[in-house]
Amino acid sequence: MNLLVTNDDGIYSPGLAALASAARRFGTVRVVAPDVEQSSMGHAITHSRPLSVRSTPSVPFDAHRVNGTPADCVALGCHMWREVDVVLSGVNLGLNLGTSAWHSGTLAAAKQAALLGVRGIAFSTSTSDDSEPDFAALAPHLDRALEFVLEQPKLGLVNINIPRDPVGMRWTWQSIRHYDGRVVPIKDPRGRPLYWSTVVPLEAAEEGTDRWAIEHDLVSITPLRLDLTDHAALAEVMQHHPLT
Ligand code: MN
Repeated sequence: MNLLVTNDDGIYSPGLAALASAARRFGTVRVVAPDVEQSSMGHAITHSRPLSVRSTPSVPFDAHRVNGTPADCVALGCHMWREVDVVLSGVNLGLNLGTSAWHSGTLAAAKQAALLGVRGIAFSTSTSDDSEPDFAALAPHLDRALEFVLEQPKLGLVNINIPRDPVGMRWTWQSIRHYDGRVVPIKDPRGRPLYWSTVVPLEAAEEGTDRWAIEHDLVSITPLRLDLTDHAALAEVMQHHPLT
């Protein structure tokens, strides 16, 4: 199996090394990742300038860095290495739960794989301001989740979140009841207004969702799809307001 590994934290992230190490057990690993952090870039692609791919021997894999977004890395990686069976993205330094799926570069890389007809699996873990995740402690959980999902070939696009000390795994769905994004106004040194985009803590999530699983120290595995169509609404309007 050929596994393309990428992320949105940049090619030198310890999370990427942890994922590439876990992937090695399942086949041939190649890393194609952004040269600098691209978190919260979502599914942006670069179309206004050319992209470069540079071999990166200081990363102990067949590693290449790209001056672009996570989605660019997957498009380029699949273009240059035509036999990609699965794209793994992460492990992101920070959870990607609920509505963050709309902003996440980590998930966008997996989505780009799915758009190209390749399986895409995103991995994220919790982190704090003053310490990196303990990837040695997470390794067996990462291994288990990766093996479990790779064995389900019908899952073309999957979002996996791993809490700090997992006690099990759960199938979950995306928690979208509340949006955690918020704009916070501040001032620059001359008193002019500036703004921070940030997130706010949310109250307890509904049972069975990705956020609920993490709140219960469970690895959350969410199958996703590319189709954004609201099929229930579509059926309703087609029945009651047909367009001819
Ligand atoms: Mn990130």
